[in-house]
Amino acid sequence: MEYIKKQVHTCFHCGNTGLLKFIGKTEWKDEDIAKDGAGNIINYTLIEHEDWYVFECPVCNKPVIISEYVLDVAETPAEYKTEYPTIAVSPIGVPKEIYSAFEAAVKTKGIDHSICLLSLRRVLEMICKEKGAVGKDLEKKIDDLIEKKVFPPMIEDACWIIRQMGNDAAHADKITLYSYDVEQVIGYVATIIDYLYSLPYRVEKMKTKIQERKRTSKKTDENKENK
Ligand SMILES: [Zn+2]
Repeated sequence: MEYIKKQVHTCFHCGNTGLLKFIGKTEWKDEDIAKDGAGNIINYTLIEHEDWYVFECPVCNKPVIISEYVLDVAETPAEYKTEYPTIAVSPIGVPKEIYSAFEAAVKTKGIDHSICLLSLRRVLEMICKEKGAVGKDLEKKIDDLIEKKVFPPMIEDACWIIRQMGNDAAHADKITLYSYDVEQVIGYVATIIDYLYSLPYRVEKMKTKIQERKRTSKKTDENKENK
């Protein structure tokens, strides 16, 4: 749908939220076409389609790509996703306060690196709180969640980096913080959010869908047998 062009989007390169400049669009679709012997189309079904919209951020001039996906056979509402930059976390399945805090942190990236890193550390603290972590400081809380297997062990180092960078940001007068490092930390926090909240939600949704399909096909088979 073309209204995506007139909507307000957030550029996760610089945090600008507003109208982005539309550059172009690419399309993909899966269709079922039946033809008669003469090659005329006798039946046409659009199964699913996806469009990618390329925008340019008027503030930082970097590209932003947003996709629109529709499963046409099921007439589901369109799903929008920021494909690039990919650090954006999908809000689906993520507790609202954690998503808002992450989004707010990312938006400060282009304004102040220290504020951004401190805000990202805060997101990690909020995640620990939401997961019921026990411990006197952030380090102990992360250890607690690893022990309880809420966090996989590989996340430990990522958490360590987020904590250290947050500490460095508090003394930013002595340390130079590069935008590349900030990007990395944003990526780690995004991965943690995805792993803990978005991924389980998506997996569960897909699983229900498959189970539903199996149940329906089983019923159809039983009906056939009864006839
Ligand atoms: Zn931008």
